[in-house]
Amino acid sequence: MADRGEWLRELGLAPTWRLRDTAADRGTSGGRATVPASSTAADTSSAPAPVALLTPADRRAHIATLDWSAFAADVDGCTACGLCRTRNRAVPGVGDRRAEWLFVGEAPGAEEDAKGEPFVGQAGRLLDNMLAALGMRRGANVYIANVLKCRPPNNRAPEPLEAEACRPYLERQIALLQPKLIIALGKSAAMQLLNVDASIASLRGRVHRYQGVPLIVTYHPAYLLRNLPDKAKAWEDLLFARRTVASAA
Ligand code: SF4
Repeated sequence: MADRGEWLRELGLAPTWRLRDTAADRGTSGGRATVPASSTAADTSSAPAPVALLTPADRRAHIATLDWSAFAADVDGCTACGLCRTRNRAVPGVGDRRAEWLFVGEAPGAEEDAKGEPFVGQAGRLLDNMLAALGMRRGANVYIANVLKCRPPNNRAPEPLEAEACRPYLERQIALLQPKLIIALGKSAAMQLLNVDASIASLRGRVHRYQGVPLIVTYHPAYLLRNLPDKAKAWEDLLFARRTVASAA
């Protein structure tokens, strides 16, 4: 396995950006269960309600009652917006269900749609490497999800009605997780979560709130793959995020 220095070099961050305080690393979660949300799809102990028959208000109330064992199956069966007709697989989320860190992207891409897991492929590997540089890893004190649980065709931006229809699922994930910090990956996720239309540059470097939970904005890994110099800024954001979590402890 590559050590942290190698991860930092791959990120283009070494030797300029190095961790000085390894005591704050939170990569060890003491044997916490790490279960992809999608892995519970076969759990039939809590069969999803017939959500297609519910009013939007009743559907929202129904989603607010879901526990982890029912959550992924409910998303898999969701037909609340038109994306259910073009998805291959819904992508509920993945990670440590007791995570303090929640990373939120915009929506699944083609590889995520095929595998049912968020942030796979090249951008996902970069995210994993960024986590490794912090001494963290996917599934250990980290949960990863998207604003939208189904892929928009041709990776277009989410429509407002799609985002609105899917919002109760992210709200439920946050209620179940109770994370100490949310990191919005990219402008679209930040806009959806904060209900603002602003540049990443103007949103970075300060603590926002989403339903009372501290939220920090940084670049989407897919953007960083195309804009290598901004990796250093993303690294600054992650260090800022780590300080924010530590100060809330
Ligand atoms: Fe349901 Fe969200 Fe998928 Fe739309 S994107 S079908 S609201 S899970």
